[in-house]
Amino acid sequence: MKHLFVILLSLSLFACGNSNKEDSGKTDDVQDQNTERYVLVIHGGAGTITKEKMTPEREKAYREGLEAALSAGYEQWKSGKTGLDMVEAAIIELENDSLFNAGKGAVLTHEGKNELDASIMWGPDRNAGAVAGVTTIKNPIKAARLVMEKSEHVMLVGKGAEQFAESGKLDIVDPSYFMTDRRSKQLKRILKRDSTKIVLDHDEKHGTVGAVALDKNGNLAAGTSTGGMVNKQFGRIGDSPIIGAGNYAGKQVAVSCTGWGEFYIRNVAAYDVEAQMEYNNASVTEASAEVIRKIGDMGGTGGMIAIDNKGNIAMPFNTRGMYRGAVTEDGKILIEMYK
Ligand code: ASP
Repeated sequence: MKHLFVILLSLSLFACGNSNKEDSGKTDDVQDQNTERYVLVIHGGAGTITKEKMTPEREKAYREGLEAALSAGYEQWKSGKTGLDMVEAAIIELENDSLFNAGKGAVLTHEGKNELDASIMWGPDRNAGAVAGVTTIKNPIKAARLVMEKSEHVMLVGKGAEQFAESGKLDIVDPSYFMTDRRSKQLKRILKRDSTKIVLDHDEKHGTVGAVALDKNGNLAAGTSTGGMVNKQFGRIGDSPIIGAGNYAGKQVAVSCTGWGEFYIRNVAAYDVEAQMEYNNASVTEASAEVIRKIGDMGGTGGMIAIDNKGNIAMPFNTRGMYRGAVTEDGKILIEMYK
């Protein structure tokens, strides 16, 4: 009976995938009564994800992909590893899964290449690392962590980032490793429509990936990894590798974003969640819903996931759906896709 209650609570939380402050507030109250804490939340992108457009096979494949990522991260939690290990393990699974717009299967640039961005952040000391525009690093999230832990810098770009990853003995692959048939077709289709426009992968229903974690010591971490937007040109970099925009972890909250990156950068979206919690006493649900509202008002689309230092979570988005999942400390896995 208790379990059923918890599942129902969780489902109502997942169903709250919008930026309606009133609804969000209610959900947060429910969360506060919930004795179970979440330890890991992930997303696989937001967009036009609807039941009508989904086939049972595709839904199953996404579900399995998200479940594998949650399990990998949860294993780290169970063995007492840090939030960084949890986030990294979950994101590696998603980068290796060609369904998602990160690592293998990432979207293509105007020139038909894969240029990948990723970042990671550790809440306790706000240490952070990021790589942008890389084309040969098999798992960009590992490179982001390497930058954080083994360099004096926060962000490395392009060739330099690749050399650094190689010197750190990370797996280096031929750029063709990331390429998939589906992405080539997608680019061709988009180039026919309007060759100058960048397109959010939303329309194509796959997305950037991210994870936020609360480890056994109460520490928070966040990670985000992406191929960016389809048909991007001129070395365009989105929000995902930018600390405070697409990714952020502090003492109160960890946040990972997905959506039209330019709007997230202009709103300093991920950090704004912690700022509202710190300066305005907002709950994680209120703060994240407010950021998505602001982005929506400016014409931006997308979503975010957030976990606070008590294990409360929020997953607002202003699109038709967002691939998302979470796991509690008891290992109960929840996965949702639609609004
Ligand atoms: N935020 C990513 C970018 O703008 C794209 C996405 O989340 O789908 O690069």
